[in-house]
Amino acid sequence: MPVTIEAWRITGQSQIDSYVGRWAELAVLLVNELHVTQARGRPVTPPADRRAALNQAITAHGWTPTPAPTPAPAGAAGGPVLSGDDADRLAEVAAELHPAFTGGDVTALNRALVRHAAVPNLHGDPPVLAFHAPGADLPDAWAADAGTALAMVIGVGQGRRLRSCEAEGCELVFFDVTRNASRRFCGLSCQNRAKASAYRARRRT
Ligand SMILES: [Zn+2]
Repeated sequence: MPVTIEAWRITGQSQIDSYVGRWAELAVLLVNELHVTQARGRPVTPPADRRAALNQAITAHGWTPTPAPTPAPAGAAGGPVLSGDDADRLAEVAAELHPAFTGGDVTALNRALVRHAAVPNLHGDPPVLAFHAPGADLPDAWAADAGTALAMVIGVGQGRRLRSCEAEGCELVFFDVTRNASRRFCGLSCQNRAKASAYRARRRT
């Protein structure tokens, strides 16, 4: 009698998870760097120099993008370097991806997948699964890959893991990878602020 294994072992669930996690984190980075208007209780203005802000954030996160940004200016010291045009278009992508983190309907995400020509296909040798069309430029490729990752999270019933910080005056988004999907805040400073204001509210009553 042949030994059978579960179908998910054949697909290599952990590889899919790492794909999803990686690109969902890029979506988080784009939204937080380029789209939110309040962070940790303070208003934020979109960076005047999007290109510099994005390059800095991407380097800080150790993100290695594919396809590589084009063209890299001469003398660029390591790390990905985006053009100003890439950065402007990625700000539009951030606006398209943001609703996926606010629990709204998925129309905007579906539209973005179409607009950026997301399509599953194999790239390179050995073949690697990706969701941007062959020959896509960087903003389209990132939008397609990150958008598909968010769609996968939502599509397997884990959309609640794409969240916005619950603290007052903070719109930062995050991908909740806690076991019970129980994370509520972007970080410690918001958690502490929210705790303090809940305490004050209790004392008033
Ligand atoms: Zn926050």
